[in-house]
Amino acid sequence: MSLLSTHGLLAGYGDMRALHGIDFAVDPGETVALIGANGAGKSTLLRAIMGLLPVAAEMVQFDGKPVGGTAPHRMVQSGVAIVPEGRRLFSGMTVEENLRVASEHAAAPHNTPWTQERVYDLFPILREKARTPVENLSGGQQQMVSIGRGLLAQPRVLLCDEISLGLAPRVVREIYAALPQVTAQGTALVLVEQDVGLAKQASQRLYCLLEGRVTLEGQSSDISRDDISAAYFGAS
Ligand code: ATP
Repeated sequence: MSLLSTHGLLAGYGDMRALHGIDFAVDPGETVALIGANGAGKSTLLRAIMGLLPVAAEMVQFDGKPVGGTAPHRMVQSGVAIVPEGRRLFSGMTVEENLRVASEHAAAPHNTPWTQERVYDLFPILREKARTPVENLSGGQQQMVSIGRGLLAQPRVLLCDEISLGLAPRVVREIYAALPQVTAQGTALVLVEQDVGLAKQASQRLYCLLEGRVTLEGQSSDISRDDISAAYFGAS
């Protein structure tokens, strides 16, 4: 049984349906990438899982239980956290303060707990910047804080929405190089990623979405560039 899964997931915004029956699953310690063009529904899938959109209970299962439509803070407490698109850090607060807030709303740790020290070991530059207001950090450093904040929620599944967006390639490599340390202890990662090459390289499995439907799913190492472009653009 998967740790987190969706079953015929339908979700949208008011009358506009954005997801038309998504079957998705992630196992403990697995990294799954979600790719697809702008507007394909990747962020909507993360939001629907997180309880940020109304969803029928049985359409999302976590740890063997139906959790669709559960309030986001309860999802966090049960072990599902999100690194949101655009980072959404608390400006006017330091790195340390941003991380501390996350610890206050955490799930019960399932494994070796994440601490501020462990986050600093993962991203050493944050130790040097601990007292710096987050608005004075570079984009890459802010993204590291955002990921650190997600980890301090002690998730069993961490949903990451476009963590490479707008960052220099060197910084993207640095952030992605840290991710295996997250999955090593059983935390599952779901990565929404615009960079298809990076998505393929960083994940064991990937899903491609197109207009709210899954058009491709499989082992990342088995999927060819041609498969991806057909699924991405919708070949007939
Ligand atoms: P992107 O890379 O642009 O974030 P995405 O694959 O994450 O793309 P979504 O943001 O999930 O796509 O969008 C899926 C559909 O839902 C699109 O048609 C989009 O216009 C619509 N949508 C997204 N957010 C909202 C919202 N807050 N209100 C109404 N419609 C929305």
